[in-house]
Amino acid sequence: MQTLGQTLVNDLLPDDLRATGPLDKKELHKRLYEYAKRDPAKAAVAMDKLRKLGHEIATTEGASISLDDITPEYATRNDILKPLLKKFQKIDDPLERQKLLLEQQTKLQKASADFHGSQGELVRSGSRGAPSQLMRSYMAPVAARDSQGNVVPWLVHHSYSEGLRPSEAFATNIETRLNLIASNLAVTEPGDFSKILVNNMGDQLILSEDCGTHNGILMSTDDPNIIDRYLARPAGGFSHNTLITPHTATKLRKSEKTIVVRSPMTCELNDGVCQHCYGQNERGKLHKLGTNIGIRSAQAITEPLTQFTLSAKHGVRTGSTTKPGVTGLKGLRQFLEIPETFMNKAALSSTDGKVSKIEKAPQGGHNIFVGTNSFYVPPHLQPSVHIGQTVRPGDALSNGIPMPNEVVQYKGLGAGRKYVVDKLYGIYQDQGADLDKRHFEVLARTHLNQVQIDNDPEKRFYPGEIVNYSTLQKSLSEDTKDVALRAANGQVLARGYLQHTAGTIVTPEIIDDLKQQGIKTVEVATKPPVMSFHMQPITSNPLLNPDWMARLGHRKLKASILEGAHFAQKADIHGTHPVPAFAYGKEFGTGPKGRY
Ligand SMILES: [Zn+2]
Repeated sequence: MQTLGQTLVNDLLPDDLRATGPLDKKELHKRLYEYAKRDPAKAAVAMDKLRKLGHEIATTEGASISLDDITPEYATRNDILKPLLKKFQKIDDPLERQKLLLEQQTKLQKASADFHGSQGELVRSGSRGAPSQLMRSYMAPVAARDSQGNVVPWLVHHSYSEGLRPSEAFATNIETRLNLIASNLAVTEPGDFSKILVNNMGDQLILSEDCGTHNGILMSTDDPNIIDRYLARPAGGFSHNTLITPHTATKLRKSEKTIVVRSPMTCELNDGVCQHCYGQNERGKLHKLGTNIGIRSAQAITEPLTQFTLSAKHGVRTGSTTKPGVTGLKGLRQFLEIPETFMNKAALSSTDGKVSKIEKAPQGGHNIFVGTNSFYVPPHLQPSVHIGQTVRPGDALSNGIPMPNEVVQYKGLGAGRKYVVDKLYGIYQDQGADLDKRHFEVLARTHLNQVQIDNDPEKRFYPGEIVNYSTLQKSLSEDTKDVALRAANGQVLARGYLQHTAGTIVTPEIIDDLKQQGIKTVEVATKPPVMSFHMQPITSNPLLNPDWMARLGHRKLKASILEGAHFAQKADIHGTHPVPAFAYGKEFGTGPKGRY
């Protein structure tokens, strides 16, 4: 049966996008998004009509909230909490109390999703509020968090509408204050983060039509993110540089599980990205030369963050107890700022070899031996390898989350970039934000872009010099030879293959990767320098820019000016960074081929 509201909304949508089932916020958003992609002009008109419809209904309908709508559901609550009351008083162990509280809270939260009346419908439609708010107001909060995010071991079994006991008010006090602070900070923190991202990515422009690469990243044909990209390698009867449309994707799916597509991450331009590696935009067109895709991506990544911080505020989230600190804005920051106190950090092997021994450590946790090297796994994590298993540098030895800078260090820039992209994409998906993966690829390209030269027998670089990836790539490509893939183990790649960047030392793992793509020979560098890969926290990354004036757009201005003067550094007013051009002013935006 169709409701009146559904009919009114359906009238504004094209035939095939009309809803037959419940039309909540998520469903409506999905349909409008599809409509906007298909026909931006018509969709804009429809959205405007929808807005007017909303205003009209809100004014004329005269809907209000009756007492029935806010009648608490104590019967449901008591069914769940009554048996708990006695049991709870007998437990002394705070950990056990916390566990029990979270279990019961999950149950009550589920029950509150079925809350009666207009309040329940408001939440179910996705327009306002969350089940947890209904639960607190009309059933019971059950549990509250302390300042560290741990559960206070006290059962709060009265609802806000009937009033809390003094002890309960005391137990929920900290959470209430934290939420108050969080809603005030909800806008400032994403704002700060947005600036950091812009400072990192602001020099990524579209600078050429086609860099000519035949390299790209491996993606599943089931991944919706392949749409609007170009094929990097021929697949399913389609040639190199075929645009993937929904139609070609369906055809590709029939014969291929994975394909290699072009990506901003593997574009071979020295600076900026080419039109074909970026692919088509949301309007089905290539970006014009000079388009600052860096700032666009930074904005796209930042836009959902306010929502992240607000949704984290809605109190105790049962899911977050199993993976603390890895969701929402906190998770995003952890991945990009790589703090010393990285939560739930997995133990990684730093060497090649077989797991020879796993023993309990005297201080708790485990010691895992790879060959003769020992690695410590703290008590809150479990070993994830078995004796005799072969591990490579950078492989996880325990559960938990591999720290991205360690992945970069052991597996190279390319593997690190891919890891960061997948993890960030996952963090957004978890929050219901379906972002174009290319935004994260642009971020990974700019964030993971430095190589440290430890020693260069050819004297092209100073020991300890930090160089841009493009500088390294250029230098490596000067002296190369082709070797059979089988014989490449231990050699240094002279150019990028799949996500593996130039400068990466070939491992059996990489050989397997490339073999699957039918790659038989690889170009390796004959005189590579000895180098190491690092990931800088995103807050300090812009300070590595060799352009002193570009650095002034970020932090530590005095240090940048002094360093610039000491080393007689130069700034490019027709480069890719907007700040030097803007500071000089006179020739802003007149650089050649889309440069500033
Ligand atoms: Zn390119």
